[in-house]
Parts: sequence; structure tokens; C-alpha cells
Amino acid sequence: MKIIKSITEIRDIVKSHRQAGQSIGLVPTMGNLHQGHISLVEKMCRHADIVITSIYVNPLQFGKNEDLDAYPKTFEADQQKLETANCNYIFMPSSTEIYPNGNHSKTLVSVNALDGILCGESRPGHFTGVATIVAKLFNIITPDHAIFGLKDYQQFLVIKQMVIDLCLPIKVMGAQIKQKKNGLALSSRNGYLTAEQLEIAPRLNQILNIIKQNIQDGETNFREIEKQAIMIINDSGFKADYFEIRQQDNLEIATVANHKLAIFIAAHIGTARLIDNIRFELNEKTL
Ligand code: AMP
Repeated sequence: MKIIKSITEIRDIVKSHRQAGQSIGLVPTMGNLHQGHISLVEKMCRHADIVITSIYVNPLQFGKNEDLDAYPKTFEADQQKLETANCNYIFMPSSTEIYPNGNHSKTLVSVNALDGILCGESRPGHFTGVATIVAKLFNIITPDHAIFGLKDYQQFLVIKQMVIDLCLPIKVMGAQIKQKKNGLALSSRNGYLTAEQLEIAPRLNQILNIIKQNIQDGETNFREIEKQAIMIINDSGFKADYFEIRQQDNLEIATVANHKLAIFIAAHIGTARLIDNIRFELNEKTL
């Protein structure tokens, strides 16, 4: 596994693999890798000949009061995990390579149709930051495949939409959410939690499962369910950000008339903001 820092160098590497007839898969990350990230790399290894994992903490997707400076950096451990997972290259650009004008881009990519709701509403500018960095990575690496975790399901849809709208010849794959045994979705931000908060945190996933079951058992007033869920989240030791039942394919508000549903949860606990979701079809098995 090689570590590449320059755009020119990774472009030359990609070119030589293409000339050898090999396909390229990209796994974009911000580092501090856990088994969720590694599952993306492992899945990509089954789809592409050459796997490139990017590690870049993208300032553009963090709000002013968010955890950019505190974001954990664990490069040596990340490197070992990627080596074990058979990743071929780590692309780790500097900010001066990515944002030559300082930590901003004069050109931004916004997927407006999916912004302004859920995490887009709570974190204004976040998805523009995400779409812009991913567009840059796609232009630098020109992968055949790219993979994103369904834990960040809104992000996954934003990227899929961007690829369609910008006519990018890239196959975007999703990877199932990796959880701890107690249901807590793996996240770099779990590292901010105290032992006590780590005991409470799995409750978010439990709430998703309970509500999913209630809906499958015939509860139909989704708006009332959302209100009740917010109260339960707050009573469980979190500060709820949102709890919403939406349509799985386009994130529009869902009613009982819709079959493919997704429930989204975001809540603050201590200094961390945690998110999770569950996707299912009414009267059918969870996806
Ligand atoms: P991040 O480093 O947090 O930007 O995440 C990089 C990629 O890993 C994104 O596509 C995430 O959706 C994905 N990811 C993060 N946590 C998980 C998880 N628990 N299960 C599956 N994928 C994940």
C-alpha cells in the first residue's frame, strides 16, 4: 500500500492502472477509521481492481461551531487497518492542494433538491461542502466506482444525485451501517462520548427499531409518532435535533400511503451529535 499526497502523483498512478486495464474504486473518508469504514474498503475490493482510500478532513463541510479542530486524527492506526484490508493506495492531500485559495472554494457544488432538510437544515452548507469535496475527489481520481455508507443516507443520495446531474461516469455504491452489538452505529464521533454516554447512545437505534415496528404493526399518524419520538429522545438524555419519517428514494415527507420509508434520527449527547437511520418497506423485511 502506498501513501500519496500529491494530485499529480495520484493522477499518474491512476493513468498507469487504467492503461493496464484495471478498474479504480474510491473510498472517501475523513480518517479515524473504524470497522464501518473498513467494510467499505472490503466491499470495494470485491468490485474494483485497485482501491484508493482518501483521508481528508474537509473544512468546507464543517460549520463554524462544529468539531473541525477537534476531529480525531489517527493516521498510523488508519494506515494499519487499510493495509490489512488490502487497500492499494491512501490518497491524503494537503489543504493547499485541495483549496489553493484557502479553506474555501470559489466553485461550489450544491444538490439543492436534497439540501435544506434533515442534516442539511441543521448544518447549513454541510452538503455543499460534501458535494464539492467529493466532486473534487472524483475529478482527481476519476474512479469507476465510489462507495458511501448508508449511515449517512442523505449524503449517499446527495452524491448519487450529483453523479446523475453532472453526468459523471461513476458507479456509486452504498454499504450497510456497521453497528456495535448494542445497536450503536459506529462513528468517529462516538470517541467524544464518556462511558456513561456510551451506555445511553444505543437508545437512538432502539428508538428507530421500536418506531419501525410500530409502523409495521399499523400506526399511521406519522406526524404524531415524530412528536412522541422527540419527547422520548429528550427524556433519554439527549437533546433531539430531528426525528423524521420520510420517503426512502427522494426524502420527501412520508405518509402511510408511501411504502418505501426511512426514519432519520439526529441528537446531541455531550459534545457529540449522533445520527442514525433505518430504511424499510411497509409490511416487508427491513432493507
Ligand atoms: P467519514 O469518515 O465519517 O466521512 O465517513 C466516511 C465514509 O464511511 C462515509 O461514506 C460514511 O457513510 C461511512 N461510514 C461511517 N460510519 C459508518 C458505519 N457505521 N457503517 C457504514 N459506513 C459508515
